[in-house]
Parts: sequence; C-alpha cells; structure tokens
Amino acid sequence: MAKDLTSRSEDYAKWYNELVIKADLAENSAVRGSMVIKPYGYAIWEKIQGELDKKFKETGHENAYFPLFIPKSHLSREADHVEGFAKECAVVTHYRLKNDPNGKGVVVDEDAKLEEELIVRPTSETIIWDTYKNWIQSYRDLPILVNQWANVVRWEMRTRLFLRTAEFLWQEGHTAHATRQEAVDEAEMILHLYGDFAEKFMAIPVIRGIKSENERFAGALETYCIEALMQDGKALQAGTSHFLGQNFAKAFDVKFQDKSGKLEHVWATSWGVSTRLMGALVMTHSDDQGLVLPPNLAPIQVVIVPIYRNDEQLDQISEVANKLKAELQAKGISVKYDNRDTHKPGWKFNEYELKGVPVRLGIGPKDLEKGTVELARRDTLTKEFVEMDNVVSKIESLMVEIQESLYNKALAHREENTVEVDTWDDFVARIEGEGGFVSAHWDGTPETEDKIKEATKATIRCIPLDAVEEDGKCIFSGAPSKRRVLFAKAY
Ligand code: AMP
Repeated sequence: MAKDLTSRSEDYAKWYNELVIKADLAENSAVRGSMVIKPYGYAIWEKIQGELDKKFKETGHENAYFPLFIPKSHLSREADHVEGFAKECAVVTHYRLKNDPNGKGVVVDEDAKLEEELIVRPTSETIIWDTYKNWIQSYRDLPILVNQWANVVRWEMRTRLFLRTAEFLWQEGHTAHATRQEAVDEAEMILHLYGDFAEKFMAIPVIRGIKSENERFAGALETYCIEALMQDGKALQAGTSHFLGQNFAKAFDVKFQDKSGKLEHVWATSWGVSTRLMGALVMTHSDDQGLVLPPNLAPIQVVIVPIYRNDEQLDQISEVANKLKAELQAKGISVKYDNRDTHKPGWKFNEYELKGVPVRLGIGPKDLEKGTVELARRDTLTKEFVEMDNVVSKIESLMVEIQESLYNKALAHREENTVEVDTWDDFVARIEGEGGFVSAHWDGTPETEDKIKEATKATIRCIPLDAVEEDGKCIFSGAPSKRRVLFAKAY
C-alpha cells in the first residue's frame, strides 16, 4: 500500500492533516470545525483518559457530571469570563422544529422560543459555581475536589483536527477551598501532575510556567500551563491550570463559615486538558512514514506478521506466532497477530508503520528453521533478527527503551530549538526563521506583548517556573526586566 504522505519538510501542516486522516485517528464531519474521532484515535484518547483519571483519583479527586447547557444569565455574572468567551458561544434559542409550510423539510418553530436562551458550555465554571452554592455552607464542606469528563463547544473560526476544534473532549477539574494558599497549592499540584503525565506517559517534554496577563484564562488570577514545542518550531499549549481566586465565588455568592464563625468567599481552581493532546502526540513523535507512538499510548504495542507461500507454512507459523502472542500478553503487552490472507506482508508492514505500532515481528519459514524472528522498531526504523527464545524479554525491555528514547529525542529537539536573544533584530530573525522557543527579556506590560505579537505573530508562551532572576532590557521597549520569558509562534 502506498502511503502517499506529504513529507514534513514539504508542508508540515499538510503532513499533519493527512497523517491524522490516513492513520485513522479522526476525520472531518458534516459540521464545520467538528471532527469524528475514529476507533483507532479514540483508543489512544482512552489511554490518555485512563492514566489521567487514575492520577486525579490518586490525588483525591472525584468525577461528577454537570449539564451541557448554561443559562445565558449565568455566563454574564463574571465580567472577565463572559468577555473572554462571548465571541465563541453557541446559543440555543428554540426547543422545537415543525414541518415547513412550504414543504421543504423542517423549520424552527417560532412558537417554541426559549424564555431564557441557553449557551452550550464553552467551559463549566458558571454552572458549577451556581451548583457549589448549594453544596457549601461551612468549612466542613471544603475542599470540593471534582472533575468531569465532557465535551465543550467554542466556536473557533480557524479549526484544525484535534488542535483546535469547535467541539472538543476534555476533562475539567473544579475545586473549592477554604484558603487562598490551598487553592494556589492545588493549581500548582495539577500543573505538575500534567507536566509529569506529558513527560512520563506521553514522552512529550514540556515547560511548566505561568501565563502573562494577555494569555490568562478569562476570569483567572493566575494561569499555569504546560507548553510543548512541535517539530516545526511552533509551540502548543498542552494543558492549563487556573487559580481563580474568589472571582466565581463572588459572582455566584458562594460563602462558607470559617472555624471562627466568620462568613468568607470560597477560593477556586479549574484545570483542563483536551483532545488537543492527540495533536501534540502526533506532532512531537511522528515522521514521514507515519505515526510514531510511545508504547504507553499504542493501542497495539506489537504486531506479528506471517510471511508464507502456502497454507502449510501459514499453519506452522501460526502455531509459533500464537504461542508468542500469549507469552507477550501474559507480560501485559498488547499484541495483534495479523494473519489476514487478504493483504500481502508488504502492505501490512506499511499499514503498521503508518499507524505507529512500536514493534513489528515478521515470521517466515526460514525463521522457523533457524528459531529466529525479524524484529522491526518503528521509532528508529531499524530491523534485526532475534532468537525466538529471547524475543519476549527483548520486547519487554524495548517497551521501556522506546518510551525513553522518544522522550530524549523530543527533548533534544526542544533544546536545539530554544535560544536566548537580546536584540530586537535577532528576535525577529529567529521568530521569522527557524522558530522555536525564544527566551528574551520583556518589560512585563500587556502593551509591549501586543506590539510584539502584531509585529511577529509571536506570543509569550509562558514565564517558566524555573526562570532565574537576571537583570536585562526588554527586547522591544528597552525598559528594565528582571527575567526572561519564552516567546514562540503557537498553534
Ligand atoms: P482553557 O479552558 O482555555 O484553559 O483550555 C483548557 C485546555 O483545552 C487547554 O489545554 C487548551 O489547550 C485546550 N483547548 C482550548 N481550546 C481548544 C480547542 N478549540 N480545541 C481543542 N483544545 C482546546
């Protein structure tokens, strides 16, 4: 099977789009900006969900579910929040259709106009804080540590499969606390949970940092984020955790009686990662041959392909292959034995390369004679013959090795593509040239950030948590600065 995949150097955006579709992750739908996530893509998303869900529960969170619709009046209660989201809200105005009097299908029934319009949730702070009002009276009711797995809708104008869709799947955590410090600690704990998850589970290196005021979540006092660098030198916001202060508690009048009997507003956080992580996965590891999946996320970790000329050979190979499959499965490794006679081995090799299966085993009559297997690694595209007796332990260690090697490769790429610059000319040359993360001094004002964005399309991706104090001058205004921040063009 010819893959006909555009190469990354030819057109990175096209390569990405073709790959998502050809590898069966997702496809466009009849609804503009909304995608269909196909079973292979969804299987990867389920692995992301499974691991995160486990981590949320280990850190004391519980899952719940809140409504898809938000009364319009709720959204307007927190001023910054509504301003941030108003431009991307889908609104439900009617609740019924009727037959078109002109005989052309159905039309909206104007008699069925909603008294109060409903917003399809772009995020759930408002409906959740309206609910928390009833859950919280005293300090004994705190903290509330709730997460929901849901879909949300943001009417994005420029959409890209997984990276930016109008409807997307995510998890949103919403927590309520008695003190400011507890809420800050929660927001920071989640930031590190996300960071460790991205690095250890998805093999995606990320910078943990704080957003500038311009990039902050609408309604937050502080937005923490993890930022990743894609192969083409553009950054991707991979997850956010917000310290919301008492903004939503004040907007929804959520107070609690503290130990001394005093009434106080509750402190809040919210945090989320979305199906955008699927895009990060593709753009961090994959190559011109197709997907490259870290073993932790691969729905199939090992595929066995028989190479045979007749049924007798196939039977002999199947016996060995099925035994091997069972042994690998007993070690917790997911295996597919592809003995379909409808496709040639070469076709299958291509297919599994495209789909990013980490390890492929080929078994032919010669291997049976010699007691060997041909083992191909997807990440390095290397092949070797392995003794049948050693193959299980070899694969067990490969699962760890591939996972680490993908992380190290991505980290090396990010390091090679992160530079410090000190002049405006160097800044522009870098942003308009190779791209990547550019570490530079900034005077701390939103006005300067806006002007830099206008001139170069680069934004402040974050102020890294580990940024060291250093005297410098803003690359744009020349005003004094105390630390470098990370700029990049972003998805
Ligand atoms: P936010 O609520 O804006 O902080 O976003 C929470 C998470 O959802 C972040 O990880 C974002 O990167 C991601 N996200 C925001 N908008 C979209 C979108 N249109 N499609 C996919 N993911 C998104």
